[in-house]
Amino acid sequence: MKSRESVLVVGSIAFDDLEMPTGSFRDVVGGAATYSSLAASLLAPARLVGIIGDDFAESQLATLRDRGVDTEGVERVAGGKTFRWSGRYAPDLMSRVTLDTQLNVFADFRPKIPASYKGSRFVLLGNIHPALQLDVLSQVERHPPPHGLVAADTMNFWISGEPKLLADVLRRIDLLVINEEEARELSGIHNVARAAADIRARGPKQLIIKRGEYGALLFDDAGTFFCPGYPLEEVIDPTGAGDTFAGGLIGYAARHGDASPRTLRKAMFYASALGSFCVEDIGTRRLAAVGPSELAARIDAFSRLVDYGGSLAITQ
Ligand code: AMP
Repeated sequence: MKSRESVLVVGSIAFDDLEMPTGSFRDVVGGAATYSSLAASLLAPARLVGIIGDDFAESQLATLRDRGVDTEGVERVAGGKTFRWSGRYAPDLMSRVTLDTQLNVFADFRPKIPASYKGSRFVLLGNIHPALQLDVLSQVERHPPPHGLVAADTMNFWISGEPKLLADVLRRIDLLVINEEEARELSGIHNVARAAADIRARGPKQLIIKRGEYGALLFDDAGTFFCPGYPLEEVIDPTGAGDTFAGGLIGYAARHGDASPRTLRKAMFYASALGSFCVEDIGTRRLAAVGPSELAARIDAFSRLVDYGGSLAITQ
């Protein structure tokens, strides 16, 4: 095993109001970077860069620190309000609508990477304006795979609204992590394998296409790899599962100081396992309570889920 490296996560820190089939939940600590850094911190030191207002309690930041997340890069705006997002889920939790987004301090977010973070070899650019993703890249040293990794997420809003800047981002990252619908919109191609080839030709040599509870596909120079979602009997809140997946993936790679195809395939299972914990309770509640032995047990269950007992070849 190579040396353990740190993960730098940049993105939203939020209060979410969630309307779930099980009830309404207000002021739930969320945000993509919160989920990603919590997941990554289970596997490697995680450094968080984001912005909050003075409504975000010091004790709420301390909860992140207790989980091993370095919060030196979290900027607090005096007199400002933290980003707020509100959504309503369908009864089957398969879809959701955004009810409200209040950018608040997030509107003026200009990520400042602390000097102590600049050497981070593993960087996760959360779903923020592509101009800000580029700004972060200009502030950190580049360490290409396998000794480092720059991963990014994006969303339909930027795909349609900022195509040129997003194209610049794609040229400068190693790994793009997006969902199936976004992959289709970005490439303009419905077939997922062909959409993947198109996106990889635009820059990122590694691409992960998430399919929600059904798992995720990895496309890289070593071929195509699939990791299922872990089948759960009860799902409570899918918010942040994708961000948790991305944080777990990069956390595993950083833990091994290695972003090779072989390590990324193993990382997919950790990403998926952590995503499965995330959805078991409201907000970050479950994720923030997962311990190493619970994670190991789920990884073990995962190994059995995909263990077909050796060769699939037809014997003579
Ligand atoms: P996911 O379920 O993976 O899409 O992540 C949901 C999280 O993303 C929530 O905790 C929200 O606070 C956060 N979020 C929602 N909309 C945005 C946005 N426009 N920019 C950044 N973060 C957002």
